[in-house]
Amino acid sequence: MSIPEWPAGYDFIAVQILEIHPGRDRSVRRRHPWIYSGAIARRSGDERDGLVEARARGGEVLGRGLADRQGPIEARLWVFGDAEFGPELIAQRLEAARSLRERLWPPDTTGLRLVHSEGDGAPGIVADRYGDTDVLVLAAEGAARQSAQIEEIYRRIFAPARLVVRAGAARGPAGAVVERLPAQFLELGLRFEADLHGGQKTGFFLDQRENRAAIRRLAAGATVLNLFSYSGAFSVAALAGGAARAVDVDSSAAAIEAARRHRAANGQDAQPEDFVRADVFEDLRLRTAAGQQWDIVICDPPAFAKKKSDLDRACRGYKDVVRLAMALVAPGGILLACSCSGIVSADLFQKVLFAAGRDAGAEFSILRRAGAGPDHPVSLDCPETEYLKAFFLERRPS
Ligand code: SAH
Repeated sequence: MSIPEWPAGYDFIAVQILEIHPGRDRSVRRRHPWIYSGAIARRSGDERDGLVEARARGGEVLGRGLADRQGPIEARLWVFGDAEFGPELIAQRLEAARSLRERLWPPDTTGLRLVHSEGDGAPGIVADRYGDTDVLVLAAEGAARQSAQIEEIYRRIFAPARLVVRAGAARGPAGAVVERLPAQFLELGLRFEADLHGGQKTGFFLDQRENRAAIRRLAAGATVLNLFSYSGAFSVAALAGGAARAVDVDSSAAAIEAARRHRAANGQDAQPEDFVRADVFEDLRLRTAAGQQWDIVICDPPAFAKKKSDLDRACRGYKDVVRLAMALVAPGGILLACSCSGIVSADLFQKVLFAAGRDAGAEFSILRRAGAGPDHPVSLDCPETEYLKAFFLERRPS
């Protein structure tokens, strides 16, 4: 076994061997880090420690990494060929992630993604910092099985003041639950809190930071309709940029409550009718029937597609919601249309926007095709990790 010895006190020793079907090894040889279960001809070795070694028939080692048994991805590789994978390599990758972030911190900001899985060469590990609290997510099964070791490496490199570890598919807090209080942080001078335990993602959508900043720059005097608002961060940014009014729409009562708190925390006035707990599809139909027009509409739904077989249905869902949103944009106004489905590529999403615009009978131009900020890097070897697409569209004032 060529996996290196793990230091004393570690018991990273059991490795599962995944033999790849002849003819299904091309993507691994091109350094794509995901091994789908359909590509595996034979499993042997020991799966207990969540470590895997991919081999071609005949025994050639193709790569090593972590097991991940949720969904169709069965392993995430960290190294290719016969390179070593162990705690030293994990430490190197996390150190590189830390060093990149040091150069990325925006001004007046204390919330940032510190480790972004494949994009940081650390498949299966995600970490976010919210002020004095870090959230370390070890979603891949192999990462969860090695959580004690990975947590120790993480603490050494990032020195978090408080650390919440979420390990395993359930993603509930698995490590010591430090506190139930939300973690407060700043984004470009605005005050937010991440709901670490009940919230979406790790409690906040850090990936939209740059897009919120863009809306802030565009918002002077505008009326803003924020669909799928979650905790209302786009509205807070728009109001900070001088928006006349912003309305949040979300189906989650907890999200709407958080949105109220965010306005108050930033000293922004709000009316009760600025917070609407509703299904966006129904809400949009009512607004369309009432003939409403808005200067800025933001449409950032949850991922409609998680796997390839969802793709058609997801595209129809995006088209429906975007078509309804488009009808509410005043001529000369702006629509920010987002998709966070990894398997819906930017080109495909643009086609969906095109189809929606045709059905809406409105003309739009792309002002900017954007995505997540640079603290969410995308591996060129794994384009599926470019999950967030954000199109800034202008309704042409015809
Ligand atoms: N734009 C937000 C993130 C949106 S996440 C931000 O920048 O923070 C998606 C949100 O959509 C979640 O808050 C979820 O509660 C909400 N949601 C999902 N389906 C919905 C529906 N049909 N109607 C209204 N809200 C919905």
